[in-house]
Amino acid sequence: MAVAVAAAAASIAPAAPEPGKQAPFRRVVIDAGHGGKDEGATAASGLLEKELVLDVSKRLAGLLKKQKLQVVLTRESDEFVPLEVRTSRANDARGDLFISIHANAATSRRARGIETYFVSLEASDAASRRVADRENEALGRSAAASPAVDPFLALLGDMISTDHMVDSNTFAKLAQAELADLDAASSRGVKQAPFVVLMGVQMPAALIEIGFLSNRDDAQSLARREHRQRIAEALERAVVAFGKRYDARRGIAAVSR
Ligand SMILES: [Zn+2]
Repeated sequence: MAVAVAAAAASIAPAAPEPGKQAPFRRVVIDAGHGGKDEGATAASGLLEKELVLDVSKRLAGLLKKQKLQVVLTRESDEFVPLEVRTSRANDARGDLFISIHANAATSRRARGIETYFVSLEASDAASRRVADRENEALGRSAAASPAVDPFLALLGDMISTDHMVDSNTFAKLAQAELADLDAASSRGVKQAPFVVLMGVQMPAALIEIGFLSNRDDAQSLARREHRQRIAEALERAVVAFGKRYDARRGIAAVSR
């Protein structure tokens, strides 16, 4: 019985590395934004962010599995998953990297392009702050909330792990560079903002806004399977490159894949 119990436990909790010995990069948590009653942004064509980002997340998961990486999805269907549950699913899985995939929306229909974020309590600029406010709405917070007037968000900010800030920045830059290769004109760069879903994640983490559903050209591209696949392939290249750098930085020999 003890063996059966141990086997069952092992299937739930990934084996911890031996003390003093770090495990190589191998497990990626992919977080498809929104889901269920939380539809996220909507294009004029009716394309929903929650459906788009789940499709891109599944494409990325398939590609990473072919790279012999382990993949954990915070949701695999059209279900509502609270932000804090996404964080705990990632931490329970002991991921080596957390990628949250979203699509953008802005009041200006001219705004378009791809941007990558890593977490900080202070946003890079007012536009970044608005993006975080919109993505944090699943928590039921006011869209006008800011850390100065919102003790809850400030409290969450204390959970931001500075341990992973440098690695998160490294991944964000790699991801944005790969995505910019798809269409340099649409690259909006790497930014920082207080995304609740990234706070408290105990691993390097980034959030990708893969385009603006409020922009007609972006929405048309994002409706196409080929474009979604190209985004997934760009992120796959970024993950593989990050894994090598992450292991090298920690003095771990690269795993042959
Ligand atoms: Zn979103």
